[in-house]
Amino acid sequence: MNEHFSEQQAPEPRVSEPQAPAQPAEAARRRRVIVWGAAALAAVLAGALVCVAVSSAEERNARDAYRAAVARWQAIGGDAAPGSLSSELQGLDGEIAAARELAAVLPEALVGVDARTALEGAATAAQQTAAQHGGAGDTRGPASVAEPEDAAKLRTATQRIEAAIAAREGAGQSDDAALAAVTEQRRAVVAAVDTARGALVTVVADQAAGLTGASAEARQALAAAGESLAAAPVAEAAASATALTAALDAARAEHEAAAGPAAAANIDDPASIAVVVNKQRPLQPISWEPGDLRMPAGIPNPNGQPLRAEAATALEAMYAEAAAAGVPFIITSGYRGYGLQSSLFESYTARDGLAAVETYSARPGHSEHQTGLAADLDDGSGCSLDSCFGDTAAGRWLRENAHRFGFILRYDAGQQPVVGFIYEPWHFRYVGAQVAGDMRARGIANLEDYFGLPAAPTY
Ligand SMILES: [Zn+2]
Repeated sequence: MNEHFSEQQAPEPRVSEPQAPAQPAEAARRRRVIVWGAAALAAVLAGALVCVAVSSAEERNARDAYRAAVARWQAIGGDAAPGSLSSELQGLDGEIAAARELAAVLPEALVGVDARTALEGAATAAQQTAAQHGGAGDTRGPASVAEPEDAAKLRTATQRIEAAIAAREGAGQSDDAALAAVTEQRRAVVAAVDTARGALVTVVADQAAGLTGASAEARQALAAAGESLAAAPVAEAAASATALTAALDAARAEHEAAAGPAAAANIDDPASIAVVVNKQRPLQPISWEPGDLRMPAGIPNPNGQPLRAEAATALEAMYAEAAAAGVPFIITSGYRGYGLQSSLFESYTARDGLAAVETYSARPGHSEHQTGLAADLDDGSGCSLDSCFGDTAAGRWLRENAHRFGFILRYDAGQQPVVGFIYEPWHFRYVGAQVAGDMRARGIANLEDYFGLPAAPTY
């Protein structure tokens, strides 16, 4: 059985190589593998070295390009907005605000509408210009980003910087036009401010000249405030204008306090008890009629002519004292309307001739009797409407006491060149106790001088 098995295993040596010659072939193969492996490894290593060399050259070029781009970017101004336009825009903003502020504080009464309109117009136009160019400086670049490490990132960063440089150069060109527009608007705003402040300074100087009642200090302060406004920078013009008008108000208050009731009186309104009517100052409207006429109570009044209520009350008080003093009087004339004055003037003219009438009777619309504030008084001693009334007991008492009741002797002796009428010691005009008392205290003989009005000798 063993033999048989041994026979059956006999072909095995045929398929396998003989042991002795197999040893040298294997060694050779191993050497080849080693050689080719080493060669391949060397090739791979060499290739890698070449790759590394190429890669670092590219990176160096990219870094150089990046650094050059950064240098160009920095050379045109870094990563800030273009300086000149942005600073101009900032300055314009401040001046627009200052112009608006100045327009707001300029008093209508002191500066013409033209100056205010010019200021507002310039401020609005400048604001539009500033709004148009407000975004022109937005060309920020990436120069402040840390330098990238690899070539691809360096190239991307370089492209961004170059794009920013191109945008910046384009913006720089449009900035030139914007800068010109902004500069022009700035000039317009400053010119309008100068016009308005000039108008204010001039008007205040004119008014200051008339404030003779103000103290020297107040007048000096006013002059100094005018000089300050004239020299103030645009941004301070509004504050200086406010200071100037405050100084004017202070000087005016002093002047009015010194001038007394005259400064506060309304001499133009026919309804004012201080209205001044003479040959140069007709009532306006010329046929004006008072609305509060009444008959003075308890005073003989043969012609039945009323007075305005306030004058009637004052005359009643005056009559009571005069009567108590033994010098009672009568009313020969009070309110005379435009129509009555017309017919009187015509009949006097027919009787005495126009030249004579003009000296003692007013044309309709120019008579104090039409105000309802004048009364002709008499004492029945034969001096009615005659200069001799001034020498009567009643006439003397009235001259000395009328002011206490708010009346003045309107046409005193020697006043015709100013008041336009001969001496009329019978004609008393109600002006209120303040004005009458002030005129008496200051020795002022007529309303024209008291209110600083021109003389009115003729029409
Ligand atoms: Zn009269």
